[in-house]
Amino acid sequence: MTAFAFDVALAPEPADRRRPDAGPAYGEALALLEASGALAMRVDMQGRILEATEATAELLVYPREYLLRTSILDIIALESRERVAMLLTCCAQDQTMRRERVRVAGGIGGPNWLDLRVSYHRDADDAPSLLLFGQDITHWVESERDLTERAFLDPLTGVGNRAYIGKRIEEYTSGRRAGQPFAVALMDLDGFKNVNDSLGHEFGDALLKEVGTRLQDTVRTRQSVARLGGDEFVLMLDDMESEADAIRILERVIHVCRQPFLLGGCQVRITTSIGLAFSNGSAQSESQWLRRADLAMYEAKALGKNRYCIYSPELDRRLDEQFQIEQSMFEAVQNGEFLLHYQPIVWPGSGEVCAVEALMRWEHAGRDIRPDVFIPVAEKNGLIKHLGAWALRCACAQLAAWDALGIHVGHMSVNVSAVQFLHPGFFDSVRNAIQESGIGADRLLLEITESALMTDPKAAEELLLSLRALGIRFAVDDFGTGYSSLSYLRRFPLSALKVDRSFVADMVDSPHARTIVSAVLSLARELGLVAIAEGVETDAQNKLLAAQGCNLVQGWRFARAVAAADFESAVTDGRFVVGEGEVFAPRVS
Ligand code: C2E
Ligand code: CA
Ligand code: CA
Repeated sequence: MTAFAFDVALAPEPADRRRPDAGPAYGEALALLEASGALAMRVDMQGRILEATEATAELLVYPREYLLRTSILDIIALESRERVAMLLTCCAQDQTMRRERVRVAGGIGGPNWLDLRVSYHRDADDAPSLLLFGQDITHWVESERDLTERAFLDPLTGVGNRAYIGKRIEEYTSGRRAGQPFAVALMDLDGFKNVNDSLGHEFGDALLKEVGTRLQDTVRTRQSVARLGGDEFVLMLDDMESEADAIRILERVIHVCRQPFLLGGCQVRITTSIGLAFSNGSAQSESQWLRRADLAMYEAKALGKNRYCIYSPELDRRLDEQFQIEQSMFEAVQNGEFLLHYQPIVWPGSGEVCAVEALMRWEHAGRDIRPDVFIPVAEKNGLIKHLGAWALRCACAQLAAWDALGIHVGHMSVNVSAVQFLHPGFFDSVRNAIQESGIGADRLLLEITESALMTDPKAAEELLLSLRALGIRFAVDDFGTGYSSLSYLRRFPLSALKVDRSFVADMVDSPHARTIVSAVLSLARELGLVAIAEGVETDAQNKLLAAQGCNLVQGWRFARAVAAADFESAVTDGRFVVGEGEVFAPRVS
């Protein structure tokens, strides 16, 4: 065996106090070191290797002769080298033992990680050196890393999990990329519930797995994808310069998710709605990022799904307003804060009132909240069915009350929202309103939008027919703004078309709008429907409409919507003249 001075390994006393039997003990100590298979070496203050066991050479897979010509720093990976150099210096200075987990330079099959201890040593001649002992902890470090990775992994899809999202965002906000563009996109699969319900959870799981894979293939770094839970995925994007870069990625994501999925021999198609929160570098907490992306995602859903939406403070403000409205709406119903105003519908020639449209008003905390704002909220929270039923009862009762006062308004128009129309209780709410008020059913005109009719045309047709059987009439509201199928227009039992305000507003200046109005008017004639133009504000509009044969008009040129009492006093003092005459001629079929 080569001469070896590892005398202090197991016998740290100074040489002069060494026991007489130090010789054999030294041999045993060395044998023990060799048998441990650990790294054991002595280096000088600069790290040059002075001695090394055979076991060390074996462990590092370097010839021992080579080791003795090199420095400990040369066998340490670059990332750990500085720390090891520091370790040697400190130990040389204060002579206390130190320990560090270090990474070994990529050898051939040697360890990756060492638990390295350095201690100070003086030999018999009082010459200082450093003793290094290292345990191979590669296995341990790797299984530790594996465990950590698994703690951040979604077991179903193999993408990151909820905890991973927090970790990545934290890395971004505090890491070296802090202050650089970053985006969080939250995506929700549209109609995933259908897949789960109709094909079963097994296929639902398979779909989620495939979505995870597609996402990882689509974004530039696989580390950017995580699943928040259910069918919600999160993309964390840092490899981009602008919002436009993030949008390009989202467009690709929407595209790849639209491609058919093969599940158990079935082709399944889904779409996805994505909300994007982008920042040019301002720091936010994880919950802020997710909240913003979530708001934008819900907006994407509200706008019709299969699309992305970008968070903006304006969106935040609007949703906050909606939230406030929603909160006060429940109480408002109980407090009777809602009321109806009535806008006269007149003959274009004489300006005489033949009908009114009931328009809902909400006076809340001293201000008027517009129906464009609160109706969509009521549609979302389901209150619309109560509000709508109330409006029907109230409007019919008002018509009966005017009859009793000798003010004979021909018919009452009431708006019906799509959600209300599609609700199973709708038929009864209309019938009850008629019965309670005692008015003739033929004096009620329900205004329904094209989109409400076309959501489920078959069901709409049946419902319209059953209500028509009671005598109730229907008008298509905002005609020209939605999409209609002309064949359905013919099949539905309709009585009137309301020309949308936007066409009327433009018709004097725009030949294009004029053409649309005249086409709608001739279509109405063709189908035997009464044409009512809304939003008539000027004489010029009224004249043009009259000249083109529009049956009825409505707008500020004649009157705004007013409270019932104001309507009555306007009739009494002659500002409104309620005319006689039949509005609905028998329909040509
Ligand atoms: P809409 O059914 O198209 O009602 C006509 C809207 O145009 C009303 O707005 C009316 O005040 C306004 N308007 C009337 N004449 C003019 C005019 O000459 N110029 C302009 N610029 N506007 C005019 P309002 O009352 O704010 O109602 C807005 C929408 O809210 C209604 O549009 C309707 O879709 C909905 N809505 C109102 N009341 C009810 C209701 O009781 N039930 C349901 N479901 N929706 C309602
Ligand atoms: Ca209307
Ligand atoms: Ca309208």
